[in-house]
Amino acid sequence: MTMTTAAGETTTRNLALAIDIGGTKAEAALVDDAGVVLAASRFRRPTGPTASSDDLAAAVLSVLGSALAALPADATLLGVGIGSAGPISVADGLVSPLNLPVWRDYPLRQLVIDAVPGVPVTLRMDGECIALAEHWVGAAVGYQNVMGMIVSTGVGGGLILQGSAIAGPSGNAGHIGHVEVGGFDDPCLCGGIGCVEAVASGPKTVAWANRQGWVGATGEDLAVAYAAGDPIAIAAVERSGRAIGQAIASATALNDLDIVAIGGGFSRVTPDLFRFIREAIAKRDWDFVTKVQVVPSALSDAGPLIGSAALVHRADLVA
Ligand SMILES: [Zn+2]
Repeated sequence: MTMTTAAGETTTRNLALAIDIGGTKAEAALVDDAGVVLAASRFRRPTGPTASSDDLAAAVLSVLGSALAALPADATLLGVGIGSAGPISVADGLVSPLNLPVWRDYPLRQLVIDAVPGVPVTLRMDGECIALAEHWVGAAVGYQNVMGMIVSTGVGGGLILQGSAIAGPSGNAGHIGHVEVGGFDDPCLCGGIGCVEAVASGPKTVAWANRQGWVGATGEDLAVAYAAGDPIAIAAVERSGRAIGQAIASATALNDLDIVAIGGGFSRVTPDLFRFIREAIAKRDWDFVTKVQVVPSALSDAGPLIGSAALVHRADLVA
């Protein structure tokens, strides 16, 4: 459909329906082709480890239906993009989010196809969506070899290499949280030992600090203690940053990355986290590894939704 702008030009208003499924919430919104979320179309429902499978499906259908109801009469819905916590099975449209244990090989894509018939529905891992969002309108605009990362209750990521999003045959490429890092022996839910997520996520960093005698419960508590100069909090954040930095150095050795953009709640524990990450990378001798820039995400908290929308609006980058 067409509309006329204030300048008198006729334009087509093309929108994507973006859905983000994570361990704590399901969210949906309409997003335009400039990566702008229509605020009135944004809806959120809790998920969580105690929800039943039906509860989770109802949460997805609720936010999706509310967002769709906000579709302006003069707009065209191009398609639906779904970003889900991993692992996923992209060929079959199935999801098994680590922190939503009642969903194992759950047919999320079909649930959405049935709810929104007649438009393409694309499912990818949330980490790939974040990489697409940073590359589209975030901190990695203009770069062709990008890793987007989230450091929060978990550690996720996704890759854009030579300008194309890399999903891999199963859809799980870029799962940096489950790369093992040298010098750490923390057991991971995935079966790995010393995975980045098992060392450096917000809850795991807090748990390590607790084992050293620090009293506090959350990443926010740790941020306050860090700012106050608490030596255990400082050691905990340094340890987290070192693990993330080692993983990024390894990922760069493998993929020749230009830039890594990191978002997520725990990435803001202190700006010093980025210093610790960069110090770990700087220990390497090779320029092609140490050249990688590590920067904070430039996305708002709508980053995951923008990334899901990129599956529609930037479909040419998505294999
Ligand atoms: Zn793991």
